[in-house]
Amino acid sequence: MTVPAVLAVDIGGTKMAAAMAGLRNGRLGPVITTMTPRGSGDDVWESLAGLIHACTGGAGGGPAAVGVGCPGPMNTEAGTVSPVNIPGWRGFPLQARITEFTGAPTVLANDACCAALGEYRHGAGRGATSMLGIVVSTGVGGGLVLDGRLYQGPTGNAGHLGHAVADPGGDPCPCGGRGCVETLASGPSMVRRALQAGWRGPPGATAADLARAAAAGSPEALEAFDRAGRALATGIVWAAALADLDAAVIGGGVASAGDLILKPTSRHFRRYAGLSYLRRLRIVLTSLRQPEAALLGAASLAAGGGPLSRVRTARAGDETRAP
Ligand SMILES: [Zn+2]
Repeated sequence: MTVPAVLAVDIGGTKMAAAMAGLRNGRLGPVITTMTPRGSGDDVWESLAGLIHACTGGAGGGPAAVGVGCPGPMNTEAGTVSPVNIPGWRGFPLQARITEFTGAPTVLANDACCAALGEYRHGAGRGATSMLGIVVSTGVGGGLVLDGRLYQGPTGNAGHLGHAVADPGGDPCPCGGRGCVETLASGPSMVRRALQAGWRGPPGATAADLARAAAAGSPEALEAFDRAGRALATGIVWAAALADLDAAVIGGGVASAGDLILKPTSRHFRRYAGLSYLRRLRIVLTSLRQPEAALLGAASLAAGGGPLSRVRTARAGDETRAP
């Protein structure tokens, strides 16, 4: 490859995606995807290695660096991941494996952090100084960009809005907490609560079905979106009060419901946010497609967008700064 390029990887419980990206302009090349195997940890790794090879092989040279977005929880200090939705990976040394496979320094980040950085640099978050990116799908994830830098925290889990408390007396959450944003605003919890309230959804109903019902005027479906918007607004107010944010960008599958989720979130936010520094925050929907946002963020990290991220070189235990 004549132009220096980085490799961006986005790992999900259902699909994995990868693309080469220009080191300077951050533009993505063709995006290659594959299904995430349901089998053992080795099966998942073999599939990921095949995807990386398909992306980098035959290009006349490997990537200058690799950026990887992966669902949490993770430990970026150790370079290991334990994604809830990939049971075969528990404490899996993803950073070392990719570094060994590609020979390039590898930066690891939570997938929602990557998506937040992608939105900030290339999407609906452009122009903001500090921004919260929220991914609303089967769970609720998030990432914080503060003063232009992705803030990951010591373990890489910062910005995880889904497990901020929106209802202190609320339902137990699979995380072990109670009343988390995710128990009200994730796609499956929205569907579950609408069904409990009497909505007659199709068998195996999804958030997309619920959005169609809400658009057709179903009161239970509209109430589910209102409840989700209120939970998201609560989390956004918390984050904005603590970090003085000027934008919150909502992405993920549920964001495709458009105004059905944006309007209640904005309305409840205006009810909760009293101070002028909170009220200047704008809440917008993503302008990028999936997995574009996460891949752009991963590419940006690999190209040096995460000045605080440490990367591990091919020599075990030898750490250097991101390129
Ligand atoms: Zn939780």
